[in-house]
Amino acid sequence: MIRPICRMGNPILRKIAEDVNPDQIKTVYFDQLIEDLRDSMKHYGGIGIAAPQIGICMKVCVIQLEGMNRYGQEINLPFTVFINPKIEVLSDEKRGYWEGCLSVPGLRGFVERPQHIRVSFLNEKCEEVSIEAHGFLATVVQHELDHLFGTLYVDRVKDPQLLVFQEEFEEFVQPTLSLD
Ligand code: ZN
Repeated sequence: MIRPICRMGNPILRKIAEDVNPDQIKTVYFDQLIEDLRDSMKHYGGIGIAAPQIGICMKVCVIQLEGMNRYGQEINLPFTVFINPKIEVLSDEKRGYWEGCLSVPGLRGFVERPQHIRVSFLNEKCEEVSIEAHGFLATVVQHELDHLFGTLYVDRVKDPQLLVFQEEFEEFVQPTLSLD
């Protein structure tokens, strides 16, 4: 089911979400939550979404970057459910991307984040999984996990001049970007 998106200003986006008890996974309720996240992400055109964005204060987010090639990078992450995820930064190398967020519609902001991470989590089958992520995918994973800890990307925009409207982004910023 497509759920309405909580936008910046809604206090739920500023809470630390609750850890999921493994007993909750594989229940009808939980399967429905995952389906709602998937339906909502697709409907609103996101590449990831976190449970607090649809009003559920649990440490669950989903990402799907299948067949995408952004910024000249090959990225292929099939629909993945991250439950109680934890991040380990594997390299100090940082890079910035112009991020957007379903909860902050109409804006883009330039955020620098580590570009090599490991994320450990439970999947929807309650299996422990650990994946390494590089580049843009590492940024997307960190953006979604931030939602589980009450952080929005706008908090991480170091220079307020690098927060712009989507239309102005397309007109003025995008033409200046190199895609490597
Ligand atoms: Zn977001």
